[in-house]
Amino acid sequence: MSAGRKEIVMEGIGVSPGVVISRAFLLISEEERYVERRITADEVPREITRFEQALIATRHQIHEIQQQVSQAIGQENASIFDAHLLVVDDRSFVEEVIREVSEQHRNVESVLHEVAEKYAKALAKIDDEYLRERAADVRDVARRILRNLSGKSRSAIAELREPCVVIANDLSPSETATMDKEKVAGFATDLGSPTSHTAIMARALGIPAIVGLHDVSVRVSAGDEVLIDGNKGVLVIHPSADRLERYGQVQESRRHIESELAALRDEEAETRDGYRVLLSANIERPEDVAAVQSNGACGVGLFRSEFLYLSRNALPDEEEQFAAYDRVARQLAPDPVIIRTIDLGGDKFLSHIRTAPEINPFMGWRAIRFCLAQPDIFKTQLRAILRASASLNVRLMYPLVSSVTEVQQANVLLEAAKDELRQAGQPFNDAIEVGVMIEVPSAALTADRIAPHVDFFSIGTNDLVQYTLAVDRVNERIAYLYEPTHPAILKLTQATIDIGHAHNIWTGVCGEMAGNPLMVPLLLGLGADELSVSPSLVPMTKKMIRSLEYRQAEELAQRVLSSDSPQEVLDLCRQMAQEVAPEIMELIK
Ligand code: PEP
Ligand code: MG
Repeated sequence: MSAGRKEIVMEGIGVSPGVVISRAFLLISEEERYVERRITADEVPREITRFEQALIATRHQIHEIQQQVSQAIGQENASIFDAHLLVVDDRSFVEEVIREVSEQHRNVESVLHEVAEKYAKALAKIDDEYLRERAADVRDVARRILRNLSGKSRSAIAELREPCVVIANDLSPSETATMDKEKVAGFATDLGSPTSHTAIMARALGIPAIVGLHDVSVRVSAGDEVLIDGNKGVLVIHPSADRLERYGQVQESRRHIESELAALRDEEAETRDGYRVLLSANIERPEDVAAVQSNGACGVGLFRSEFLYLSRNALPDEEEQFAAYDRVARQLAPDPVIIRTIDLGGDKFLSHIRTAPEINPFMGWRAIRFCLAQPDIFKTQLRAILRASASLNVRLMYPLVSSVTEVQQANVLLEAAKDELRQAGQPFNDAIEVGVMIEVPSAALTADRIAPHVDFFSIGTNDLVQYTLAVDRVNERIAYLYEPTHPAILKLTQATIDIGHAHNIWTGVCGEMAGNPLMVPLLLGLGADELSVSPSLVPMTKKMIRSLEYRQAEELAQRVLSSDSPQEVLDLCRQMAQEVAPEIMELIK
């Protein structure tokens, strides 16, 4: 508990369940340091103490650098740091910052930036070269003080020593992917949405997370005690004793429900009247297999293989990829593992492959488009997947397909990869099942043309919603428009499933919609053969399936298909969930 501090409650979008209370670790980039924040009169002394501590740390660092430079290249070169020390010790500069903080009730970062700029600009105007150069010193020192004030550089996340909650303006999927769960107890960001890959990664890692909090990164100070409720999307700074007690009780009842769900681990994903679906899991890294098993999923319905390519300096070669795919499939055998070929681009970039910046990366040179243009990179992956299929239940699917031509082209490269393996005498499964992700409206609308070329469809609702409704899936400002229950999405989903069945191919759903317990009865009623969800959501999804009569799901689907209103559909889904599985509603409310 934070004694004496007033608690601040913020609401965002809970994207990864769980509650955590810990100290805040502020991850801030250079541009974000200067954001102005109002402070209360009570906060002034603390703000000044922070400034004084940052000055001490800065002085200490400058002395150290001076010594190092002096030893390395001589005393003369080290003397420039005398000028830096003069800035830190300049009483009029320091006092002006303190005065402005006290009088204007603004955070020290914004005041310091402003005062330093005022000094630097005044010096830069003076007709004296020596004094003009001091302008750079003032800016340099101000930057150093700012760095010492609160935020850590983005790379500092790897240096965390003890568990804390990470607070940032935004986090990239690869930054999230490299988080150590032992050190990052939770995270919260200003930006983001539930279907961003950052949110998806948080669920995969089981790290409670909230996004879309708008200004959490300026309202939280480093070291503040913060409560993150990833279920409700509520973040509390300086939580009160009362609130902590209430949370303790809620946690207790959630733990009880969760332990009941855990008991379903080895049960089938079938409705009360015996309608069975394949309930599999989405993974991003080979290590996620443990969670697939412990949560009782049947194999992997989506392996986002591009995460093997991120956060590194070179592409993984065929051997490395083969080892990863083989390991995953071996551990899960005989259950199936569907490897999605790389879906790079959008919000997942390779730092070592320079591509021209794009205005619309989500609609740009990504996924299958990138692979078809880079056949060597693509075939390397295809060979690795094929080799893993030699004796294991491995399937593959192509992402972001927008036309049958792309499927045909990809299949030509798949045949070429098979030929190469034959020539090299490497075994593989010639009849490997090949599927297509249906996540672009044009693919859904031409599913009948695509079906003859593939063995299954997997509906990627995350992108299907984004492209059908023209709503950027990572933009929290328009998150209210991101509606999987929109009639257009329901029509496309139903049409895809029906076409799949008419062509005797199975159709699954692997977007986040499948892992939303409210949507599970609806997707079943629409005829989905498979649901693939984040491992942590498998128990809830299974419980929902097992609580239903299939007839109820069918009736729900029929009813919602005639509705015009996404909100009405959502309400009907909520009613159904409440009726059949109130304990699940208890967990997600
Ligand atoms: C999807 O788009 O629904 C999907 C499952 O793929 P991703 O979230 O990786 O884009
Ligand atoms: Mg997608």
